[in-house]
Amino acid sequence: MLKQLLIGNWKSQGSVEEIHQFISAIGRLSAPENVRPVLCPPFVYLDLVKKRLPVGYSLGAQTCSFNLKGAFTGEINANMLQDVGCSYVLIGHSERQESLDILEKQMERAWESNLVPIFCIGEEAPSAWYSLAKKISYLSSISSASPFFVAYEPVWAIGGKIPPSCGYLVQALQYLKSHLKNSQGFIYGGGVRPENLKEILDLHMLSGILVGQSSFQQTVWTMLLAILETYGKVCKKQV
Ligand code: PEP
Repeated sequence: MLKQLLIGNWKSQGSVEEIHQFISAIGRLSAPENVRPVLCPPFVYLDLVKKRLPVGYSLGAQTCSFNLKGAFTGEINANMLQDVGCSYVLIGHSERQESLDILEKQMERAWESNLVPIFCIGEEAPSAWYSLAKKISYLSSISSASPFFVAYEPVWAIGGKIPPSCGYLVQALQYLKSHLKNSQGFIYGGGVRPENLKEILDLHMLSGILVGQSSFQQTVWTMLLAILETYGKVCKKQV
């Protein structure tokens, strides 16, 4: 069955106690069969989350070092992430402001460690498509032997409560899809909340959803999951 990804990017949030509470609350539910939930906690909590991961969930990291192991103080490399149970890694989240040169190396490190990278891309301001050109050119050059997802995240919509209009999203996703036929699928992130998720799923263009800080709120997370479980089933068709 084609599963929809639901990715929770916790960012710099959480404590041991809060994570125990969150997992206990969501742990009563295992993942719906049509959804693959992916939790992306801060590095220091990966192991804790992995040990308490509900059935059917996957673990992801918020970034990785562009270096291999060695004398790189404070760096967490992709091998370490794989070692503690990660399957996915976010690459190039706009809040990190990394150059394309760095992102390309991070992608290589992810593949070497058998992690699936989720490459974040999005324009800085509405309709500023020119700002995507270099990233699109890089992504389109990736061989189909190296799997990756594209997370379309318009920078101006991140952290807000309202995603772009459906017309805008269709235009943006069609543009990306026409250039990036080698991707495993397209994920949307930026202002996704339980109130607007159905509208986004109605586009029939996505393999998943990426949610930021609010994904660490147990009520928000369980609502998103429930919507994807029930409504996502009728929205499986991909354009
Ligand atoms: C994000 O930061 O990747 C994100 C999608 O955030 P939010 O859900 O808050 O817009």
